[in-house]
Amino acid sequence: MSFVKRTHACGSIRAEHEGHTVTLNGWAHKVRDLGGVFFVDLRDRTGLVQLLCDPQTLRDLESIRHECCLSVRGVVRRRSPEAVNPKMPTGEVEVEVTSFAVLGPAKPLPFPVSDEEQMQNVNEELRIKYRYLDLRRPAMHRKLALRSAAIRKIRAYLDAREFLEIETPIITKSTPEGARDYLVPYRLEPGHFYALPQSPQQYKQLLMVGGMERYYQIAKCFRDESQRADRQPEFTQLDVEMSFVDQEDILQLAEGLTLSVCNELIEEFGLELDPVEPFARLTYDESVHLYGCDKPDLRFGLPLFDVSAQVAESGFGVFKNTIEAGGRVRGVRFPGGSSLSRKEVGALEEFCREFGAKGMASLAVVSVSEAGEGAVPVSDGLAVRSSIAKFFSVDELEGILKVCQAQPGDLLCFVADTYMVCNNALFRLRNLIGDRCGLRNPRKLRFAWVLDFPLFDWDADSAAWVPAHHPFTAPKTEDLVYFETDPGRVRADCYDIVCNGMEWASGSIRIHRPDIQAKVFSMLGIDEQTQKERFGHMLEAFQLGAPPHGGIAPGIDRLIMLLLGEENIREVIAFPKVAQGYDPMMDAPSPVDPQQWAELGLRPA
Ligand code: ASP
Repeated sequence: MSFVKRTHACGSIRAEHEGHTVTLNGWAHKVRDLGGVFFVDLRDRTGLVQLLCDPQTLRDLESIRHECCLSVRGVVRRRSPEAVNPKMPTGEVEVEVTSFAVLGPAKPLPFPVSDEEQMQNVNEELRIKYRYLDLRRPAMHRKLALRSAAIRKIRAYLDAREFLEIETPIITKSTPEGARDYLVPYRLEPGHFYALPQSPQQYKQLLMVGGMERYYQIAKCFRDESQRADRQPEFTQLDVEMSFVDQEDILQLAEGLTLSVCNELIEEFGLELDPVEPFARLTYDESVHLYGCDKPDLRFGLPLFDVSAQVAESGFGVFKNTIEAGGRVRGVRFPGGSSLSRKEVGALEEFCREFGAKGMASLAVVSVSEAGEGAVPVSDGLAVRSSIAKFFSVDELEGILKVCQAQPGDLLCFVADTYMVCNNALFRLRNLIGDRCGLRNPRKLRFAWVLDFPLFDWDADSAAWVPAHHPFTAPKTEDLVYFETDPGRVRADCYDIVCNGMEWASGSIRIHRPDIQAKVFSMLGIDEQTQKERFGHMLEAFQLGAPPHGGIAPGIDRLIMLLLGEENIREVIAFPKVAQGYDPMMDAPSPVDPQQWAELGLRPA
């Protein structure tokens, strides 16, 4: 037998097919030679079915090796009652093979593709080197099928709302999103380079000037930045831009799309997630004040507290001096943390130090009845236990407990430092506490809007203002008055979607007036000459009838991660890069011929 096209999918064979002759194509998932009989589980995208091969009538059965590609013909039989496998959808039947062909022989494999348990221990780089084998696993199929369905639903949602899907160039000019560019040398003019887009930002704005009104693209973006578990040098975002809209229009569209796409996917794929609810909304300032960061995990409460006013006059030098120097004393509650050992509390302090705090002080809160020796009774039946309790008056302790809304059993954790240092350590500590207390419910996706970001951030390293989002973001009109005097105070019409402590989308209303755009560039230290060279096309387009416009770009990879509860972005990408942007399968990046160097007018370093 040679290759014959399948009549059935492996996963579709049922008892009702008994007696039918079928042709199947797939891979030998498991091969068991029991002497008298030879069993093969044949797998295709739809599932598995057991093949029964009789060595008396079939020759060359030994050529059927694990993961070889097969075409088989056979007759569907019901299994005997004791052989029924209720765990397999095809478990009531097997196919008695009458002929077969090995379409693609397989030599011994680098890892056991069909053994999910063993696959968990396989080195990830090896999996990615042989990604085409790794992708045969049903678990990987499911991830890519979910990704494909998500993109299909996104398209359907936007197509139904009169959006045009438009492609924008990949070899282009640098567009800043705060990362380093990937550059492509231009052969015809040595020293000239294309850049791969960090996002289609400028093109999508120019599409608005071009009258497209509603654009989207499933867009590849390229950013040469240090890698983390949730980053890749190239990634995919849903890029959206709209004309003649205000911020609220974009929020409505993006929220509606998210709810609709996520909830349909949860249902269709039977994902272990509760339905997604309408988004919470908070301003950037609120988010930082309450949760210490602009990407809060809102699956749980435990907002940060600020006891600066309560401890400013206390006898505890560390707190007092910090406040005198303009700093703050902020903290977070650890419910149940009062029973942690000294060593465990020490580990929390170490954690805070790792993220920039100089230390962490704590107070254990207990009910008076269980207080025991050394505890200081405060009020409302509460007492505190701590080596620092003696530095505070009972009034001060009472004030602290009130502000923290302390409960018996809490460990109150404090960091004294600048507002930013406190927040930076405490938002992470809050997440850690959320994990320890089981408050980060894996069944929940809690989306929220974070609004009114600042327009500029101060970059201490370069001692300059940098865009908080990107340089095309519009300042809030009412904040333009601070532009020269207090740039840090200028807020932008800029919004993020966050989910479970992760930034998922960023967007903004854009500048469409050339004078304001030039002003923002100047503020960012880009002189007039450079503005012309780098962004002259934007400034000119804004003088040729630019409509007011804005947009947003949610991450596709991150959406799939959220839906699957996956922390590693590589798990949701067919062919990801590993550390340092390396692709072990293609062995890229790799050296090129000296002739190519010469053609490009480049010389090896
Ligand atoms: N271009 C932005 C980004 O990639 C998104 C946007 O502003 O629409 O983050």
